[in-house]
Amino acid sequence: MELARQLVGASPARLTVDGLGWGPRGGPPILSGISFVLEPGEMLAVVGPNGAGKSSLLRTLYRFHRPSTGVVRLDGEDIQSMRPRALARRVAAVLQEPASDFGLTVAEIIELGYTPHQGRLGAMHDQRLGDALALMGLTGFAARDFASLSGGEKQRVMIARALVQKPDLLILDEPTNHLDIRHQLEVLDLLARLPTTVVVSLHDLALASSHADRVLVLEHGRQVQLGRPLEVLTPAIIRQTFAVGVAIDSHPATGRPRFSFHLDRNA
Ligand code: ADP
Ligand code: MG
Repeated sequence: MELARQLVGASPARLTVDGLGWGPRGGPPILSGISFVLEPGEMLAVVGPNGAGKSSLLRTLYRFHRPSTGVVRLDGEDIQSMRPRALARRVAAVLQEPASDFGLTVAEIIELGYTPHQGRLGAMHDQRLGDALALMGLTGFAARDFASLSGGEKQRVMIARALVQKPDLLILDEPTNHLDIRHQLEVLDLLARLPTTVVVSLHDLALASSHADRVLVLEHGRQVQLGRPLEVLTPAIIRQTFAVGVAIDSHPATGRPRFSFHLDRNA
């Protein structure tokens, strides 16, 4: 974990989202009424069924989308008024589907993460690349062609790239999608312990509840719940939002909540 702390540095951002709405130009609103405050270093999991608006919400947080209502603030500053380089120094995003046709090596992809800091890294460079690779279990991969990697390896490279960017706010859209179970747990453990503010969308409610400080449940672009994992991920709310039944008990080995789902005709 020392490695992660050195890599990321520590001026985690306070993220304030107030009355946020977004929709495509000329189209209906996709998101509305999203409001929350994340304290520096907290991790928020965004959950919700397919099409609920998770990716759209994350895109407004890293300024890919301009909000149609409301505001996103980083330590009090509206991100819309930040210079691109200043924003890139503070916010990193790991997208759902990394492009695979860059024609670049793993090292070159990760080095793209340094871009906003260039001129200020110097001799630290090689060490930080090595640290990022080690942290993501990619030692020995530096010279590999990125396009030749498996889906899970690519995903870990994209996380490594985001980490060397030294973000104060790290945004990840379903980062566990392509990962095997061991890597899912390792990535979530890492994210939860990083000294940076994290917003992550997840399908796995058990991972969300065991690792996030808070959970936001989205349904049809609206924030239906926000709170501590076990206050929010109750059987009643899961049934209403995801249309499945669930039994929640305590895992015998870890004591963490265990979720067992079933199709429920009444849900
Ligand atoms: P999630 O990530 O939760 O699955 P998304 O944010 O990707 O949901 O999408 C939410 C809804 O908004 C979906 O119905 C999707 O088709 C729609 N949507 C997302 N982006 C656009 C866009 N640029 N133009 C029109 N519709 C969009
Ligand atoms: Mg999505």
